[in-house]
Amino acid sequence: MVARVIPVERFDLVIFGATGDLARRKILPGLYRRWKEGQIPEGAAIVGAARSEMTAEAFRASVATALDEFLSPRDIDADKLADFLAMVDYVAIDARGEGGWQALGEKMREGVVRAFYLSVAPALFGDIAQRLHERGIADRAARIVVEKPFGTDLASARALNAALADHFHEDQIYRIDHYLGKETVQNLMAVRFANILFEPLWNAQFVDHVQITVAETVGVGGRGEYYDHSGAMRDMVQNHMMQLLCLIAMEPPHSFEPDAMRDEKLKVIRALDPLRPGELVRGQYRGRDGDDYLVQSGNPDSRTESFIAMKLHVSNWRWKGTPFYLRTGKRLKSRASEIAITFKEPPHSIFGESNQWRENVLAIRLQPDEGMDLRVMIKEPGPGGMRLKDVALDMSFAEALGNDLDIPDAYERLIMDVIRGNQTLFMRGDEVEAAWAWVDPVIAAWEARDDRPEPYEPGSTGPEGALMLLHRDGRRWREIR
Ligand code: NAP
Repeated sequence: MVARVIPVERFDLVIFGATGDLARRKILPGLYRRWKEGQIPEGAAIVGAARSEMTAEAFRASVATALDEFLSPRDIDADKLADFLAMVDYVAIDARGEGGWQALGEKMREGVVRAFYLSVAPALFGDIAQRLHERGIADRAARIVVEKPFGTDLASARALNAALADHFHEDQIYRIDHYLGKETVQNLMAVRFANILFEPLWNAQFVDHVQITVAETVGVGGRGEYYDHSGAMRDMVQNHMMQLLCLIAMEPPHSFEPDAMRDEKLKVIRALDPLRPGELVRGQYRGRDGDDYLVQSGNPDSRTESFIAMKLHVSNWRWKGTPFYLRTGKRLKSRASEIAITFKEPPHSIFGESNQWRENVLAIRLQPDEGMDLRVMIKEPGPGGMRLKDVALDMSFAEALGNDLDIPDAYERLIMDVIRGNQTLFMRGDEVEAAWAWVDPVIAAWEARDDRPEPYEPGSTGPEGALMLLHRDGRRWREIR
């Protein structure tokens, strides 16, 4: 099945940090794939910018190398690649310096969409925004894209918002959370709001609890030193997991317009209760032969968590009484991300004691193998009487929509949304601040107690305390497959 691709307007896209890891691994390959699919019009321009002095020719060669490295060979088509590279240009600019800006300004054309992707450290956002504005390189219609981490606490997030707001309006700012660009995450919204089936059950009366898991098999590896200043709460919960929670818990917006969606997500964050004592578990993987957080972080006394699990309460009429359990960690058993909505038991069983009832669960898999399954009870086939069995109504998107369906990477989708001027899948400034406002006191509390994370075996499902968190409530974590 061939996906329908709607071309976007002509654009000038400037990528600051174009020689960096993210640009090489995600942004440039994503742009090439959209070009190959016919979504990028002739006459679009992609301008790389970074401090390194190099010619446009040398930059094009480095882009070709990156595509070769990060795309599958079946993605590369020699003719298309040559045409793509012909759109690519380069200008050497130090975000904090004065050189290069005029040359960049001269490359910008009238009558096309201007977008500036800041794939650089957040400390440079303000400098770049200021220069783009003051030198007239970014007009009122220009779009500015910023990467995570958007702050490390409420104060720094506010400072970043203010630095951008000095030169750009909120409707020009695209704060990326790439989880929102994932196909399944958007499908979660389709399932909720394009079907009558689930919405009547989507509340505390029928939902027993919700689990959100983001499990990684990798450790902190070469990013250990950076990660040690962050930890799972800042790196995963404040942004990605909080966004997933919002999409599950939000009220139906009146439309799919950016502010309608974001208003509803914001209400969820504001409805989160402060974390209660005993409803948080932090862990650190501790193994042999260097497979150890303290070794990899280079900080033998580190108190930073590589795993976190917690129980959240959304205090509103819809969700009062339904806990949301979140867990995420590195060096776990498998790489798996999913949201699972577990429904309550039917009020009465007509099938007798011998039939063991199993919960109805709607599981939304984000990775790997994006898809959904719904576990329902059926009668076991055969003459053995009325014996019940739970089975999965399974839908792997790749299977359901054709095995050759090429699900676009989240970044591809999001970059095209920037060009379309659609902010629905981007975070608004007040959402980010509200998330930090919830997270800050939690971190402050564990820092004040000087808590040490609980050790866990690399390759396990996390620390014992995380199991107990659910066990106390008579529940179990879903298996990390
Ligand atoms: P990186 O590999 O360190 O690349 C940084 C880029 O910024 C390089 O192109 C560097 O080139 C350029 N740069 C540094 N200082 C500059 C300056 N003063 N003026 C202009 N350009 C400058 O970093 P990255 O991993 O690509 O990450 C970029 C941003 O995305 C960061 O905010 C990061 O947190 C975020 N992010 C990254 C990932 C990822 O997977 N990598 C994922 C999510 C978010 P020169 O040295 O030539 O200037």
